[in-house]
Amino acid sequence: ETFDSMGLQENLLRGIYAYGSKPTLGFEKPSAIQQRGIVPFCKGLDVIQQAQSGTGKTATFCSGILQQLDYGLVQCQALVLAPTRELAQQIEKVMRALGDYLGVKVHACVGGTSVREDQRILQAGVNVVVGTPGRVFDMLRRQSLRPDYIKMFVLDEADEMLSRGFKDQIYDIFQLLPSKVQVGVFSATMPPEALEITRKFMNKPVRILV
Ligand code: AMP
Repeated sequence: ETFDSMGLQENLLRGIYAYGSKPTLGFEKPSAIQQRGIVPFCKGLDVIQQAQSGTGKTATFCSGILQQLDYGLVQCQALVLAPTRELAQQIEKVMRALGDYLGVKVHACVGGTSVREDQRILQAGVNVVVGTPGRVFDMLRRQSLRPDYIKMFVLDEADEMLSRGFKDQIYDIFQLLPSKVQVGVFSATMPPEALEITRKFMNKPVRILV
């Protein structure tokens, strides 16, 4: 399987290949997890991917999100949660790079930065928010982040988020999202608390183990 045969939009493919042309990266061929995960995600299915970091999971869910966004609608349509500020900011960068030719508007909402600045950027309009659970919940609670148009929700390193005590905040965020939201769970391991999330919030998930 190649990126070309996945039915992705031209401008997303351009982003994927342009990103890959940087010497250290090289997205010429999809990794195993990308070969199995991108297409189901693009179809709008709930997906559980159990894979270590380093396998290319970030580009899997970023591609799935970028393929499905409505770029004419400057409203948050996808929300990605990550356990640390650094990881959230790294995901933001990948999303922006892969979505460069699509003109995607992404913002990272993480602790330790200005709340006012987050509010200003969200107010101006974004397509995707990536963040840590605490700040994202804060933005939702303040109604600076509107959940109405969110149709994709990704938990990256779900096991790590749970072991850092973010369970309640993740549940609180789920309660605020539209009930038909597409859910992607990416996790190296599947502890009982992660399985509980998949049972409670996912609809017939496709499971991919790499
Ligand atoms: P991740 O598992 O998302 O943390 O990605 C691990 C590393 O693999 C990152 O440095 C990516 O840039 C790189 N990577 C992701 N997908 C590919 C690919 N298809 N070909 C080559 N490198 C990739």
